[in-house]
Amino acid sequence: MGTLARQPAGPDLSDRQTKQRSRPLQPSRADLVIDRALIGGRWVSEVGGRTFAVLDPADGSHVIDVPDCGATEASAAADCAANALRDWSARTGKERSQLLRQWHGALLAHQEDLARLLSREQGKPLAESRGEVAAGAAYVEWFAEEAKRAYGDVIPEPTRGRKLIVVKEPVGVVAAITPWNFPIAILARKIAPALAAGCTIVAKPAEDTPLSALAIARLAEEAGIPAGVINIVPASRHRAGEVGDAWLQDFRVRKLTFTGSTAVGKSLARGSADTLKKLSLELGGNSPFIIFDDADLDAAVAGTMASKFRNTGQTCICANRILVQGSVYAAFAEKLTAAVSRLTVGPAASGDADQGPLINDRARIKVEQHVHDALGRGARLLTGGKRHRLGGNFYEPTVLGEANPSMRLASEETFGPVAPLFRFETESEAIALANDTPFGLASYFYARDIGRVWRVAQALEAGTIGINEGIITTEVAPFGGVKASGYGREGSKYGLEDYQHLKYLCMGGLSA
Ligand code: NAP
Repeated sequence: MGTLARQPAGPDLSDRQTKQRSRPLQPSRADLVIDRALIGGRWVSEVGGRTFAVLDPADGSHVIDVPDCGATEASAAADCAANALRDWSARTGKERSQLLRQWHGALLAHQEDLARLLSREQGKPLAESRGEVAAGAAYVEWFAEEAKRAYGDVIPEPTRGRKLIVVKEPVGVVAAITPWNFPIAILARKIAPALAAGCTIVAKPAEDTPLSALAIARLAEEAGIPAGVINIVPASRHRAGEVGDAWLQDFRVRKLTFTGSTAVGKSLARGSADTLKKLSLELGGNSPFIIFDDADLDAAVAGTMASKFRNTGQTCICANRILVQGSVYAAFAEKLTAAVSRLTVGPAASGDADQGPLINDRARIKVEQHVHDALGRGARLLTGGKRHRLGGNFYEPTVLGEANPSMRLASEETFGPVAPLFRFETESEAIALANDTPFGLASYFYARDIGRVWRVAQALEAGTIGINEGIITTEVAPFGGVKASGYGREGSKYGLEDYQHLKYLCMGGLSA
């Protein structure tokens, strides 16, 4: 089992600074930093000599090498999940619930270690990582409870002498493919309902963040979840398609649950056609965040800060376009700019920064391009607007005024700490602007007028609407999108259904 490597500093930092940064992110349990794949209860290190490096996004330093799995390992994992399915699906909901509860306890008992590992590979501030571990654990707890409530139905019979019964069954082996931005919470909210429903799972975490997935799988193993029920197949970006294809073509894999970009989601949907899998696709967003003239402006600023700048703006549901009514535009812009200017930027290891680095070079370059494009098309720079003096992938928290629909940031997710302000005058104009996107993941608005609140909530095209709230995700409510943001729901009582199918029993011959 590997330990966190201490490598020389990246281009912008001295050795001494790097060491100071790395130590606070060292988990107390070294065996939670895992350089293996988990296939059928075996921790596999050898996959034909192929590995890929996990890097610390704060300075580019090397953390550890992980096996770079391909089609062979993906198929072996599906074999193990298929073998484990018979026993796991035959257990009672209560038995599965007890094991999920034990896993929930283990996640919380190791919250600090998991948070350190998450911050090390993902870069988010430690406080946010602790919150993400708690959120992931909350999904496990929720579905531990739901495992006992997979109720069916008895349908009143239309004909004498029959009974019509509907039972819910696990779909079977599930494949999960997850992104790097919430590597624990997103994976937990797929594994937990799958296991609660009686499914087994094969999962591929993102190249940037395999360590969190492997660590929570180890805790699941320690909690007593049997071998083969959870399988983790790390792969580099180069081999992601190979792993995905192996599962898409495998008829035993009955469901694919994917969170990531719309482009990859569409290609996975196409690839799943031959084996007709059940699909959940949690895809990209382009969330509007509307501030009407009757809003509580201080609350709206607080909500914008929470929505836009959490995880350094790398959140699928974060405010991407902030629409502000003309009469409050100047006041809102001033308050938001003041709040953003107070944000501190630094590595997670520093312990006190509000914003971490972006995940990698590609992410930082996209943010730079969006800001450059917006300024070239008439945006006004209110604060930030360039790489942070820390260098690497750190970017200054930025506010841009006078944004307009011709800018790239109006139609694409920026996925970074950039808050563009668009001006509007009327309610109908705001709704038209908000819905002028193929995406429909989340929308937000701040208003007090009760008639407006209802009208706007109905008119916005999104799976989730935040009304006078900037933070909307919870395990007890359904999460998911409409339009190009995908389909399926995670969390809540609805989340279990994505991992079940209905079986209708028509029982005849009952007349005396
Ligand atoms: P991405 O490129 O689509 O990657 C997501 C996952 O898919 C990663 O594990 C990736 O592996 C894998 N992947 C990429 N190409 C694949 C292929 N051909 N076959 C199988 N797997 C493949 O997304 P991202 O840029 O990392 O993540 C950000 C996106 O996710 C944003 O659009 C964001 O809005 C969206 N997101 C949505 C939600 C939601 O709930 N709706 C939540 C979070 C993020 P590699 O990492 O190795 O490339």
